[in-house]
Amino acid sequence: MKFPQIRLLLHPISTLSEKNIGKTGKKNEPTYYDNIMPKLRFRVIEAAFGKKAVEVKQPSQRPTEYFAKYVFNRAKMQQYLAPDIYNKLIDVIDNGAPLDRDMADEVASGIKSWAISLGVTHYSHWFQPLTEGTAEKHDAFVEHDGNGGMIEEFSGKLLVQQEPDASSFPNGGIRNTFEARGYSAWDPSSPVFIVDDTLCIPTVFIAYTGEALDYKTPLLKSLRAVNQAALDVCHYFNPEVKKVFTYLGWEQEYFLVDEGLYAARPDLLLTGRTLMGHESSKNQQLEDHYFGAIPPRVVAFMKDLEIKSLELGIPVKTRHNEVAPNQFELAPIYEECNLAVDHNMQLMSLMRNVARNHGFRVLLHEKPFKGVNGSGKHNNWSLGTDTGLQLHAPGKTPEDNLRFVTFVVNTLMAVYRHNGLLKASIMSANNAHRLGANEAPPAIISSFLGKQLSEVLDRLEMSSNDELVNIEGKRGMKLDIPQIPELLIDNTDRNRTSPFAFTGNRFEFRAPGSEGNCASAMIALNSAVAEQLADFKTEVDALINSGEEKIPAILSVLRRLIKESKPIRFDGNGYSDEWKTEAARRGLDCETSCPLIFDNYLKPETVAMFEQTGVMTRKELEARNEVKWETYTKKIQIEARVLGDLAMNHIIPVATKYQSELIDNAYRTTKLFPAEKASWLTAKNIGLIEQIAEHNNFIEENVACMIQARKVANRIENEREKAIAYHDTVTPMLESIRYHIDELELIVDNQMWPLPKYRELLFIR
Ligand code: ADP
Ligand code: MG
Repeated sequence: MKFPQIRLLLHPISTLSEKNIGKTGKKNEPTYYDNIMPKLRFRVIEAAFGKKAVEVKQPSQRPTEYFAKYVFNRAKMQQYLAPDIYNKLIDVIDNGAPLDRDMADEVASGIKSWAISLGVTHYSHWFQPLTEGTAEKHDAFVEHDGNGGMIEEFSGKLLVQQEPDASSFPNGGIRNTFEARGYSAWDPSSPVFIVDDTLCIPTVFIAYTGEALDYKTPLLKSLRAVNQAALDVCHYFNPEVKKVFTYLGWEQEYFLVDEGLYAARPDLLLTGRTLMGHESSKNQQLEDHYFGAIPPRVVAFMKDLEIKSLELGIPVKTRHNEVAPNQFELAPIYEECNLAVDHNMQLMSLMRNVARNHGFRVLLHEKPFKGVNGSGKHNNWSLGTDTGLQLHAPGKTPEDNLRFVTFVVNTLMAVYRHNGLLKASIMSANNAHRLGANEAPPAIISSFLGKQLSEVLDRLEMSSNDELVNIEGKRGMKLDIPQIPELLIDNTDRNRTSPFAFTGNRFEFRAPGSEGNCASAMIALNSAVAEQLADFKTEVDALINSGEEKIPAILSVLRRLIKESKPIRFDGNGYSDEWKTEAARRGLDCETSCPLIFDNYLKPETVAMFEQTGVMTRKELEARNEVKWETYTKKIQIEARVLGDLAMNHIIPVATKYQSELIDNAYRTTKLFPAEKASWLTAKNIGLIEQIAEHNNFIEENVACMIQARKVANRIENEREKAIAYHDTVTPMLESIRYHIDELELIVDNQMWPLPKYRELLFIR
């Protein structure tokens, strides 16, 4: 196939039309794309003119009918398992009852029948190593039948446990290659599902010696800890409650870019973000993208994604344009936390696949483009009971509301005590670009309660037991919080700058990054809340044992907690400089260096908290931090290499070429005109020639310095020190080199510029 002779990317998009394609390229002059990406040019042309939306085949059934089609949920269990096995399995799922081998065989056989009926040939333990992604190794069902033939087999043993090689996953030194065994073990609380021809079994992933090598293990332990601690506190109010659930409703933000343009950006390809690119003249200033009409190509992608998500049992509900151009959001209905985390991991891989079928690439990076909003993953979190109570929602009676206030205040106290840890739980090399920039929460964790709830807490703090006890009500007492019912789910009072905001019946943790595993934030939050609720109970019980009535005992501990946790409450503008000063005065964690923020995981109070709640041991925490520092270093290292290569191989040569043209022009002008006129005519060119030289020199020198800084950092053995060196010496150079490249982008002839620009990446579809 012959491609049109046009360097489209190097050509002002606005002058393109169907008829001049093929005519405007300079003949016989090999270009960047002629040399390496002829096919790409064709796709870029399509991108420039807007591809047609892919037609999405609507299922013949209604969503309620195809929902969870590929999930072995309770309905399928009932259908494929004998009644006694079904009941036992439900006991395992709901109550953590042990799972014996015989039963596992029966369950496996039922799952196999179901899977085979859907054409499945393979199975895989599906787990979440410390890489931010998921891992899977597929095995076919096939086994020898002993007579020279094959049978399809799937035993309980294969369902329940496997031994993947643990040494090739990040493990922070827990796994040595000579002792590579790790175990993956089935998590029955998250149902098995089918992707393509493979049965996926959600599992935990642990080392031979028992340490967690994944996110799911500590997440499940943190959920157990919250359940225990919250149940005890709940029993002060509702003795009939048997279980407390943690709920998570995530909101996933993402960008879409056309795959043709994506392919022409080695930085996007290799690092997930643009390491250079001058701001587009128009980006999000007009605020015309947020909630705007969704472009047809994107709607098609969303529809397709939603159908496939629903088939996997992911209850997707909301879709809309986000603030930045080409930025979108998807949110499901909230679910039990463990399942919600798994669903988010499934969704992210689904998004990547579906996007490709629509000629897009999805960018889940926290900050793909400078100067426009980055992407987060708001984690809406709350506790609820098996009896249907929402523990973070106000109720109708004073008792309900005291319970509500109890859970809110303890949550605030937990967030106050561990604000540094919560920040560490969401921090990464990528998310560091987002936090503290003027669009996402600042790099200081604080909590917004809104006017009404703040007043309730203030009033409670000021009141005394005596005045309460005199008011009529249950046990001769009515609580002085009658206004609370008016609070009901009032969402109007909002503060977008707050990282941890109360939103009517839940807290919304807004700092998590778009690409990260939600589990990381949830492990920290659940464990901190579990610790605090347990401490609360100890304190209240001590008062009761010393003769105090239950309600006054609860109230007096709450009063102290309200006072003590006050520094975490902040309803003002989180972006302001005054807040940074004020937060430091209040003793909140204001550190901004990513490697130093990770230190929060190893503070004595953090280790004590994780050990007391049984979520993680010191050894696990230390290992995980090694992984965090190492990952940070590697990410920055890759970015520095890519930027260095692009600067030297793409930018400098092109800038120099353009500079030569200017020199040539100036030279000829002086030949053509008398000296005085020539000097007037060439003044502008000479200025540009000098500017290009200055930028080029800066870039060359700093790329060399950056290589040197890396060499120095690479010699450091200690992972923490190395990450700090990368943070302190390499990261600033990424920014300064970029600045000069972006300035060149404004000067150099548009036709020569070798990379798609922001105005193309962010607007063409
Ligand atoms: P917004 O963008 O206004 O914050 P969305 O509607 O996009 O809100 O998302 C809100 C998310 O919070 C949804 O996933 C929703 O299911 C979830 N959510 C609602 N109530 C609760 C709750 N009690 N606990 C946890 N999540 C909740
Ligand atoms: Mg939100």
